Amino acid sequence: MANLQSIRGMNDILPTDSPLWQYLEDQMKSVLAQYGYREIRMPVVEPTELFARGVGEHTDIVEKEMYTFDDRNGDSLTLRPEGTAGCVRAALQHGLLHNQIQRLWYQGPMFRYERPQKGRYRQFYQIGVETFGMAGADIDVELIVLSYRLFKKLGVADSVTLNINTLGSSEARGRYRKALVDYLEGVKDQLDEDSQRRLYVNPLRILDSKSASTQKLLDGAPSFDDYIDEESKAHFDRLCALLKAAGVPYVINPRLVRGLDYYTKSVFEWITDALGAQGTVCAGGRYDGLVPMLGGKPTPASGFAMGIERILLLLQELKAVPESIYNTVDVFMVAAGDNAEIAAIALSEKLRDALPAVRLQMNCGGGSFKSQMKKADKSGARFALILGDQEAEQEIVQVKDLQGHNEQQSTSWNQVAEVLRELGL
Ligand code: ATP
Ligand code: MG
Repeated sequence: MANLQSIRGMNDILPTDSPLWQYLEDQMKSVLAQYGYREIRMPVVEPTELFARGVGEHTDIVEKEMYTFDDRNGDSLTLRPEGTAGCVRAALQHGLLHNQIQRLWYQGPMFRYERPQKGRYRQFYQIGVETFGMAGADIDVELIVLSYRLFKKLGVADSVTLNINTLGSSEARGRYRKALVDYLEGVKDQLDEDSQRRLYVNPLRILDSKSASTQKLLDGAPSFDDYIDEESKAHFDRLCALLKAAGVPYVINPRLVRGLDYYTKSVFEWITDALGAQGTVCAGGRYDGLVPMLGGKPTPASGFAMGIERILLLLQELKAVPESIYNTVDVFMVAAGDNAEIAAIALSEKLRDALPAVRLQMNCGGGSFKSQMKKADKSGARFALILGDQEAEQEIVQVKDLQGHNEQQSTSWNQVAEVLRELGL
């Protein structure tokens, strides 16, 4: 039988890489806690209809990217391509939205059938943040400053640019869509193939077409400024004023439209040019229309999703990863001899009681002193504790500084925790 392989575009995260993932997750969790957000966990599989209704029939996701299958009952299920629809579904199902304010986050795998390349995978991970019950620009800005704080913490803030735009109310957008289609019909033959296809199903997406010639044609297109409703305009002006007050630099990008149907009013993306075509590391906006679309009462909502892999690529690209995260062992216990092994097991447990923050790894599987010391060096530990049968007999242990900053010393079992503490653990 041929060797089994993972599915194309679905990656293993190996133990050499998982510290990097944990580092990002820990930083993000601590930022979220600073703002009082609470975690929600949803299933990775949902009824297909949720995404057809919630994400939008004519989006790239629903048209061509979903992993959809019938289960044994004949029900159509889909591996979630994004988290917002499922989060709203869960919030509605459990009555979290009724006259309540919610600040929620989740993380986990999303699935999209796309062409795998750098920064684009078929199973990828997002951290999503969703808020409900708040209609003002203040909460939109809170979401932006929260993400900005994370980027500062990670040391990548100078390499990402905040792009913002407003999509207006759905009425205003409807009027604009019509004007845009009228204009584009006149130049239809010159549009790229994708944009021709989108002209009648999702014309706004043409605004963020990657084709240079289409972008050139758009220079003559009607401007949304002439169609926006008063309320959305005031909301957007407020957003800009609050961003200035918070000291977050931004660029207004009138061609930023977002790929999903549910957005209204403000939308934003954090974009980097350090990763080539897959430059959007975080994207979101206001989606006041989604809750009613999924059967709830009108509820203001705003959120964003961050692509974890892309942020990790950015961290690596910018060499912004602290080396220390890859260290997983502080102390390595060497035990050579029968009695030494017996003593080492007990002593290790005692030390884990006394020093719960210290990461202590014990040699398992025997071996000579020499081979165990090699393993101690390889483990990256700062200290080795060394036990032979003679030490066991005398109830002592040798403490060796593997980086050579301190003399080797022997100490009694009762004193060793204190000695390690004095040495800085
Ligand atoms: P793109 O234009 O790059 O396809 P999108 O608009 O489809 O992105 P969203 O649905 O807004 O992306 O998802 C939010 C974020 O999730 C993106 O900004 C990106 O960082 C990440 N993301 C989306 N699709 C993928 C993927 N296939 N692989 C890795 N990350 C992804
Ligand atoms: Mg996409």
